[in-house]
Amino acid sequence: MTADSKITVSLASDAQAQLGEGPVWDARDDSLYWVDILSHRVYSHRPEEPNSDRAIELSPFVSSIVPRRSGGFALTLQDGFYGYDPATAELTLLAEVEASLPGSRFNDGKCDPAGRYLAGTMSMDEEKGRGTLYSLDEGHSVKPLVPDVTISNGLAWSGDGATLYYIDTPTRCVYAFDYDMASGAVSNRRVAADIPEEEGFPDGMTIDAEGMLWIAHWGGWQVTRWNPATGEKLLSVPVPASQVTSCAFGGEQLDKLYITTARVGLDEAALAAQPHAGGLFCADVGVRGLPTAQYFG
Ligand code: CA
Repeated sequence: MTADSKITVSLASDAQAQLGEGPVWDARDDSLYWVDILSHRVYSHRPEEPNSDRAIELSPFVSSIVPRRSGGFALTLQDGFYGYDPATAELTLLAEVEASLPGSRFNDGKCDPAGRYLAGTMSMDEEKGRGTLYSLDEGHSVKPLVPDVTISNGLAWSGDGATLYYIDTPTRCVYAFDYDMASGAVSNRRVAADIPEEEGFPDGMTIDAEGMLWIAHWGGWQVTRWNPATGEKLLSVPVPASQVTSCAFGGEQLDKLYITTARVGLDEAALAAQPHAGGLFCADVGVRGLPTAQYFG
């Protein structure tokens, strides 16, 4: 049974991003970081200081950012994993990936609970099977984990780290893998949730403290909550933008769900109907998230 949500979503930042993505809560400065892949920007939003939003111009195509244990951040650009020091704006290459594949870029990325940085690639013309999910491990070594991916998205881990949830968007499926926290290996792929065609495409994803998945729906005007053990949809939260790209829990209590959206490809009539498309949204969804994992390298 799916409950109609009484949860209201509010605009946190009217950034007008082309392709807002990759929200991540950073407890070091109580800020939500997120990216605009197509405008090559990292945004920060500090809820306690409403007018403190910042946009930092970076290189193409910054697609994900994570806090780094040794300080600053790690992030994915078009061709690999980089370190980023916000004090000096310096980017340091950690590991090059697929630099020889023209027309590819990184997409969604996130750290596992142990601190590895997983991120996947896609071809920019969305050619089937051209992407791979990679893991950045000890010593910045890179391992391919899942090959033959089309649009790599939606990473989340169960609280004990033993299950990885993963989305390859065109399949409309959320996959579960057994995840070995000691080695970072994946096995036993199965379908955890199947998104009906009329609800748009599953994009980014997060998990709450009760083990339920929150999925952003590209072309679906919503985020939804699912039970991955039963494949059942529990809740739908309407978002006032059609292209909902990702979501993450934030706030000092991890009790706010932050939601990113996109403007790219919308014509004038569509933008008139959704003037805040590309904005960062926020909702009280009545459940908490899990702490953000930092890259251990
Ligand atoms: Ca995405």
